[in-house]
Amino acid sequence: MTVVPIETPSECIVCGARHLRQWGSSNRHSRPPLGLDEFALYPGNRYQTYRCENCEAVQKSPLPSADALAALYQTSTDGEWGMNQDPQLRHFDLLEAIAANSRRDTGSSKVLDFGCSNGELLKSWGSHWSKYGVEPSNAASALAEKNGLTMLSKADYPNYQHFFDVIVTVDVVEHLLEPAKELRALSELLRPTGRLIVMTGNTDAVTFKIAKGGYWYCDIPEHVVFFNPASCEALAKQLSLEVKDIKTLCHYNANSHRHHLKQSTKFYAYFLFKNTVAALFSNRLKRTTYPNLASAKDHMIVSFAKPLSNKPAQGA
Ligand SMILES: [Zn+2]
Repeated sequence: MTVVPIETPSECIVCGARHLRQWGSSNRHSRPPLGLDEFALYPGNRYQTYRCENCEAVQKSPLPSADALAALYQTSTDGEWGMNQDPQLRHFDLLEAIAANSRRDTGSSKVLDFGCSNGELLKSWGSHWSKYGVEPSNAASALAEKNGLTMLSKADYPNYQHFFDVIVTVDVVEHLLEPAKELRALSELLRPTGRLIVMTGNTDAVTFKIAKGGYWYCDIPEHVVFFNPASCEALAKQLSLEVKDIKTLCHYNANSHRHHLKQSTKFYAYFLFKNTVAALFSNRLKRTTYPNLASAKDHMIVSFAKPLSNKPAQGA
């Protein structure tokens, strides 16, 4: 079988810079994408990760096509959509507390959840919020509507310019093939001084730095781009937004110490194995995937603020 080499991407999908460097060794996804039985998104299921030397964002190569990803989300009937999440476990309260910074003093404040899935995040928020959602999956969108969200599509964007006090997007930006373009469109829906709150993985986490492209977060086929605080700052500059706050945290809130210890032991034991036994005996073993360490602080919540005046500075 001929193995086609993976090409270095020509440009960064976050900032457009043309200087990308390989980040770690090449990998294979260990599970198929959302609701599919086969590894349809990547030829031979192989991928490599590259880091932008300008903004520090990391992206996969090859990237799946926009059409293939869109079809995947639209038609997915994955049982996950109907799942009831534990609000504490998924930081719903913390996200609402951060959003409260841009709540209006009187009347209801307007919030949009971009990629809202079944709408459970906003369902858990107080009744002083007017709740809106954008969601590509038809099945999830129907559930979000039942959960009290007014559903919008991108075609509705022109009618909602400067409308929202808060836009929240959780576990979504890592799925985007054009993250800057999508977030720019969202920032136009925010009123001046409104907040864009983004939760995603953080490649600066020590576990992420060790495992690089072999980390559990990259093993998810729908995840194509990975950020750290520096790439969020670079993104804010591009979008004329300001980073107000970055909180690093575990993806899931309620892992016990015992669970964390068990996962960490597996993770670091694997690190030793990969760099000693596997390195000596087999290249194939070197390419296996790190065990899941969901209890590591490998996520972040980034709060972007829209300035009062969004005009570019003179001479910029
Ligand atoms: Zn970049």
